[in-house]
Amino acid sequence: MFKSVSCSFCGKDVPPGTGLMFVRNDGTILYFCSSKCKKNMLKLRRNPTKLKWCRKTRKVYK
Ligand SMILES: [Zn+2]
Repeated sequence: MFKSVSCSFCGKDVPPGTGLMFVRNDGTILYFCSSKCKKNMLKLRRNPTKLKWCRKTRKVYK
């Protein structure tokens, strides 16, 4: 049913049943482990590579 996903912002694994899913207007689906990640990604537009609390960085956001 649910497959595990990783947070679109910090790259942490999001266990099924937890976290947040966000669908952008263009159809891109984003997963977030917490509302903190969602806020940083969508509101503050921070770069995860510059944040200490992001455990790993999968992508480089430009
Ligand atoms: Zn996260």
